[in-house]
Amino acid sequence: MTAKVTVLGSANMDLVVRTPRLPKAGETVLGDQFAMIGGGKGANQAVAAARAGGDCRLIAAVGDDANGAALRAGLVRFGVDVALVRKLAGASGVALIGVDEHGENQIVVAPGANAELLGLTDADTAAIASADVLVCQLEVPIETVAAAAAAARAAGTRVVLNAAPARPLPDHLLNLCDLVVVNQTEAQELSGATGDGDALVDAMLKLVPRVVLTLGAAGAAYADRDGTRFHTPAPSVTAVDATAAGDAFVGALAVAWAEDRPMRTAIQWACAAGAAAACRPGASESLPDRVRIDELHAATYPDVP
Ligand code: ADP
Repeated sequence: MTAKVTVLGSANMDLVVRTPRLPKAGETVLGDQFAMIGGGKGANQAVAAARAGGDCRLIAAVGDDANGAALRAGLVRFGVDVALVRKLAGASGVALIGVDEHGENQIVVAPGANAELLGLTDADTAAIASADVLVCQLEVPIETVAAAAAAARAAGTRVVLNAAPARPLPDHLLNLCDLVVVNQTEAQELSGATGDGDALVDAMLKLVPRVVLTLGAAGAAYADRDGTRFHTPAPSVTAVDATAAGDAFVGALAVAWAEDRPMRTAIQWACAAGAAAACRPGASESLPDRVRIDELHAATYPDVP
C-alpha cells in the first residue's frame, strides 16, 4: 500500500549563506558560500514525504515570478504532485537563512504568495479527502489550515499538524488535530507551559490527543491520551545543518503513519529521517530517500521490525 499524503503549506525560495557565526542584532558578518534552494515547511515536508516513499501532493501558492517557476520545477523533480500548487500574481515567498559552522540557523521569511493561500478549491478538498494523512504547518493563513483540517476530519483523513513557527492556536483548530508535532519552543508557545519534556508533553496532551515533542540530537518524545508514552533516542550522527531535520521528521512520520506502522516504529523511522537530513547541508536536497531512512533506522534500532 502506498501512503497517500496531502500536504498543505508554504513554498519559499531559500537564500542560504553559510557563515562562521551568526550575526547579533545590528551586526554584519562576512559569510562564505551562497545558494538558492527550494524550501518552506510545506514544500519541504511534501518532498520529505515523497522521498520517504509516499504518494504526495502539495496544496500551496507561489507567485508569478521566476522563483515560483523554479519552486514548482524543483517539487516535480523530487516527485511531488504540484497540480494543486496555485500561481498567484506577485512575489513567491522568500526565506533568508544563515547557517553557522555548528549547523545552527537563523531565518527571516517574507511570505509573499503564501499569505494569499486563502480558501480551498473542490480539487483541494478532494485531495484531502482521498489522502490517508493531511499534513499542515503554520506558514500559511490559519483559516486555510483550519478549513483543510475540517475537510480532513469530515472525510476520515488523519490530521498531522506541525505547529511551526511557534504561536498560540485557536481551540477550533486544535480540536481537529489527530497528532501535533512540536519542538520545545513551539510546545511552550502553544501550551503556555514551561519546564522540561514531560511537563511540556502533559500540557500538550490537554490540547490534542497525540503529541510528538522533537528534541534535536536527543530524539523525540511521544505521548497520547490512551496512556502510551515513550522516548526515542536519535541516531548518533555528525550534524552539519539542522535546517530541514524537523521537516524530514514530519514527512517521514506522516508516511509511516499513513502506512499504519506502529507509532513507536513510525517515530524511530522519523528520527532516522531527521538525523539523515541533519547530516547534509541545505533543505530539500538534504532530505533522505526511503533507502537511506531504512538503513539508518536498521542501524540505530536493530531490535525493531
Ligand atoms: P526543529 O528543527 O523543528 O527544531 P529538531 O531540531 O528537534 O526540530 O529536529 C527534528 C528531529 O530531527 C529530531 O527529533 C531528531 O530526530 C532529528 N535530529 C535533529 N538534529 C539532530 C542531530 N543533531 N542528531 C540526530 N538527530 C537529529
